[in-house]
Amino acid sequence: MGVSNYDISSTVGTSVSQRLVRRLCKKCAKKREFTQEEKDIINRIGSKYNVDFDLDGKYTYDAVGCKECNGSGYFERIGIFEILSIDDNIKELIVNGASSIEIRNEALKGRFKPMVVDGINKVLNGITTLDEIDKKLIIY
Ligand SMILES: [Zn+2]
Repeated sequence: MGVSNYDISSTVGTSVSQRLVRRLCKKCAKKREFTQEEKDIINRIGSKYNVDFDLDGKYTYDAVGCKECNGSGYFERIGIFEILSIDDNIKELIVNGASSIEIRNEALKGRFKPMVVDGINKVLNGITTLDEIDKKLIIY
């Protein structure tokens, strides 16, 4: 399904990283437009990682707080992910004892998208807030 034999044979493994962020409470989240500052941050991350975040018609939410969420504005947690495919290039770097930064930079040349990209997508889908992503990942 969309994965060629070549992809499968050249991939010796994957590394999945996850961080938990708080999920907005659906009962009290308050819809609003993104501020220009927030749009700038999202677009900056988009251009840094070569992702076209479509902000047209998208809203965000403020965490307000109600009885359901004990006044926090958030309810439960969700994972944000990044998936690193260990291809031949990455494998060679690992074998040669490259640092995690070198491995990451190599991965970014390919299809690897860092966690913050998944985080922003979850903000654009109204699941969490930019503020929450920033607290967990420090994106500013
Ligand atoms: Zn609530």
